[in-house]
Amino acid sequence: MVTFKKDIIMRIKDCFLDLVDMELGLLSFETFVKETLLIFQETFHVETVVFYTYQEWKQQFDLAGYVSKKGMRDSLPTYIRLNDYENSMGDHTILRKATQTPLNGQLDLFIEIKYKSERLGFVAIKDVNLPQMDQIDINLLSDLATEYGVLLSKAQNLAGIINEKGKYKQLFRVTEKFHSSMNMDALLGEIILTLQEVYPAFSYFLLLSHDNHNHIDLPIKDLEYDSENIAAMQAYVTGTIQFEDSLIGHRSILYAPLKGKQGVYGVLQVIAPNTLLFSESEIEFITLLAITAGSALENAQLYEQSKKIISDLQLINETSHCLNSNLRLSEIINYMSGQIKRSFEAEEVGFFIHTSEQEMTKVLPGSTDFFQTKQSRPYIEYIKNKIDKENDSLFIGDLNIPLIENVSKYRSIVAIPMEQSESLKGFAIVMHRQPYYFSFETFKLLQSLIHHSTLAFTNSMLREELEKMIITDHLTKLHSRNYLDEVIQRSMREDTQGTFILIDIDNFKVINDTYGHQVGDEVLIQVANLIRGNIREKDVGARWGGEELAIYLPKVSLSTGTSIAERLVEKVSELSKPHVTISCGISYWNKELLDTYKYLFKRADEALYLAKDTGKNKVVTQEDNMRVS
Ligand code: GH3
Ligand code: MG
Ligand code: MG
Repeated sequence: MVTFKKDIIMRIKDCFLDLVDMELGLLSFETFVKETLLIFQETFHVETVVFYTYQEWKQQFDLAGYVSKKGMRDSLPTYIRLNDYENSMGDHTILRKATQTPLNGQLDLFIEIKYKSERLGFVAIKDVNLPQMDQIDINLLSDLATEYGVLLSKAQNLAGIINEKGKYKQLFRVTEKFHSSMNMDALLGEIILTLQEVYPAFSYFLLLSHDNHNHIDLPIKDLEYDSENIAAMQAYVTGTIQFEDSLIGHRSILYAPLKGKQGVYGVLQVIAPNTLLFSESEIEFITLLAITAGSALENAQLYEQSKKIISDLQLINETSHCLNSNLRLSEIINYMSGQIKRSFEAEEVGFFIHTSEQEMTKVLPGSTDFFQTKQSRPYIEYIKNKIDKENDSLFIGDLNIPLIENVSKYRSIVAIPMEQSESLKGFAIVMHRQPYYFSFETFKLLQSLIHHSTLAFTNSMLREELEKMIITDHLTKLHSRNYLDEVIQRSMREDTQGTFILIDIDNFKVINDTYGHQVGDEVLIQVANLIRGNIREKDVGARWGGEELAIYLPKVSLSTGTSIAERLVEKVSELSKPHVTISCGISYWNKELLDTYKYLFKRADEALYLAKDTGKNKVVTQEDNMRVS
């Protein structure tokens, strides 16, 4: 009998060693229980052996393992209440035949398993062959129970340690990942994933206070101040873990704050079904994870914030650089809309000025293409009216104006007035289809960017107006003499040849004297228009002074230039009303001969003089002139 007992104990110890064997490593506590129950079954030649493990906080025994030759799992209760157990067992540690007791009548032998005075559970045996069971020595069973208790307790601890080690390995892995990632979404996803791996039976939610991310696949809920969820709010406000037990819902909920050094970033909600309490190790693990997650979230948020600040500063810096660099208006606007599109992910950017004539709103070149379409008009009208009325910037999260298609395509609108004394009155519009797309910070930054750029807009607008004034003659709208001078001088540097035509209206004094100065002016305009209509875009028609006009034809030969002048002489005579004629003097240069601008002009002037002298209403070239002289 002694060897028999030793044999069983040895075999159970074997099982235990398997559990310890780190090479195998995979042997779990459940497997250990099952293996040892098999030993009981074989040794005593019985049908069924089960083990119920004691759950102190539940005050009950849960079915932890069974082996049966007859497959009686279905009829076994999943748990037995401590009360029922104690009522049946009384003072016994081993009880045979519990048929008449509150314990289920299907089991025939109960062996209490304890380690020191700690209750671990009980092994129960079922067999129809009771006489054979009667032969089992009570002392043997009692000794076995003690030995089994020792091993079971050790195995339980060990399995616990292995389990914990696994969890902390996860925690370590996840911490490492947290600190290598600055991406909020990835972090939140990792928190949930880890918890689901470690405690798959629980469900999880992240309650975030100001969440402006679009996480599609994460269980995220808003944490609102008016929330009925008092425990969640308490966790958020106090930064301590909170519990909520729902007896009706048969679940308990844990709220762990996601806490960093500077604040609480949200609350992790863990829902455990069918349990009334979280175990200490669960609470510890979840708390640790929440703390790690909190500081990782804090890092990520600070990182995102600082990245944002840096890029804002860069934007301001670049923009003011550009605004100070004397660009043309269309270039500035082009640049600004590009910057705004890039930095704020805007879809449309437009700049508008009010023109005093006809009360029109003019789209400035450089605005996005949408503003050139008819569909943009309702937006521009609406925004213009609103700005006029409120005299302030607009920050609209979800625009709803009646449009042709009944819906507003662009829902997020930021509009900022541009005003610079009297010279510029207008506004800028930034739009996105998605509602609530722009943040308040974006709005503020846009406001200051537009304010800064308004002065630059005004300056380049004024400059361009001035330039235009200088290069065009007010009466004839031909180019000014200054401009012509520049063009000729540049052409003489860069081209290989060119022709210059000097034009003077014949007997103009008579026109003035006969019809008055105003009609004289009109005649001048008629001649100017004929000039414009008979030259190419690259040619320059200019007012030389008084009733003298000029044409410069870059890269054009003398013969072509002469034909152009002759055609013009004909046309003026044919079309002018009252009738006038013109005389033209032509000069020509090419790279082969040393020439100057001054001399070019002098030759044309001399040719013109000859034309006047020989009957007017004609063309004389420098060569004709040379032949004569
Ligand atoms: P000629 O055929 O020799 O050129 O005779 P002309 O009468 O045209 O004589 P001239 O070129 O010397 O006189 C130019 C006149 O043109 C003098 C001036 O009163 C007139 N005139 C110059 N500029 C303007 C202008 O802007 N508008 C008007 N209506 N008359 C002008
Ligand atoms: Mg003249
Ligand atoms: Mg004249």
